[in-house]
Amino acid sequence: MILILAPNTRTDSDEFRQLETFLRHIPDIRYRVHQETGTQQLLTEVYLIGDTASLAAEEIADLPAVERVVRISEEYRVLGRHSDQQRSTSFEYNGVCFGQDNLNVFAGLCAVNTREHVAQMMKALREHGQVCTRMGAYKPRTNPYSFQGHGKSCLPYVFELAGNYGIRVIAMEITHETHVEEIREALRQTGNATGVMLQIGTRNTQNFELLKYVGRQREFPVLLKRGFGITLEESLNAAEYLASEGNRNVVFGLRGMKTNMGDPHRNFVDFAHVPVVKRLTRMPVCIDPSHSVGTRERAPDGLLDIMHVTAQGVIAGANMILVDFHPEPSKALVDGPQALTLDELPFFLEDVRIAREAYEKRVDLAREYPPR
Ligand code: PEP
Ligand code: MN
Repeated sequence: MILILAPNTRTDSDEFRQLETFLRHIPDIRYRVHQETGTQQLLTEVYLIGDTASLAAEEIADLPAVERVVRISEEYRVLGRHSDQQRSTSFEYNGVCFGQDNLNVFAGLCAVNTREHVAQMMKALREHGQVCTRMGAYKPRTNPYSFQGHGKSCLPYVFELAGNYGIRVIAMEITHETHVEEIREALRQTGNATGVMLQIGTRNTQNFELLKYVGRQREFPVLLKRGFGITLEESLNAAEYLASEGNRNVVFGLRGMKTNMGDPHRNFVDFAHVPVVKRLTRMPVCIDPSHSVGTRERAPDGLLDIMHVTAQGVIAGANMILVDFHPEPSKALVDGPQALTLDELPFFLEDVRIAREAYEKRVDLAREYPPR
């Protein structure tokens, strides 16, 4: 059960103390307080854990400071929808809104290689009105002898260039908790020139200790990739690990599933799950067409397979696109064969715009046919 308190209820107020006194006296119930400081107001939710089935919701709703009571299922306690349309499905980070109703594009380098390439990428993004990107510094590789990313040594120039080119959020994978501290330190050194969305890759979706660590910090939002060989439910529970530790600014990323049934694509594209994740949870949903498709193959109609699957995800309501670009794919240190080139950026963005417009028209259409 979640108690949604009146906006701006402070935990040192009389009402809150009275509420706590009441809650402490209910046998077999524990509670946990979550607070979000929004731009307009302070939002407080109290999670009751234990045997809540026997509690009368009307009685709880009459307690001091309580505005609404939401009964929740056991699944995805914090991130789930729980048939409550009024709770927020968006958050803001460094001036960019992430929600289930909008779309942000994160085009960028799978792995940082040179300062020059980072600058070229960011310049192109600025020329096309983009304020987000992806930049890999820590790369989890299948082969231990493959390039593992430049790590912390590239962070200062990546962040500095981001600031110069007006990039507000960089999606950056981390594979170890020490990377969070390295990112924080490099941001500090560059006067917080930009923001970072920590990415948990598909190989770490169920690295529970990493999830707990990242969930305990609330400075950076998190992009959690779906595990490539586990069920959707298991991956959504992984996202819930982050939220249960306190960080609810989580975006859920679909990136294709490992099965040869999807050949000749690198992974079997799972973007049909975009609306499913939005129905089950309040998380914005990201799609990664690059790691799903894995090649630059082009269909006879002139569109790249990567663009076709992007459009499929966007027309289904995706909220974020993580896509590999590179100024010179032949020189990319990781995943060059799937990178789009900078002169393809306007082509890609316009195709996304068309698909998004079609999605918005579909939503308008659905309003004309409300469920009975
Ligand atoms: C990536 O985004 O660079 C990446 C490695 O993705 P994934 O974890 O989905 O393989
Ligand atoms: Mn990659």
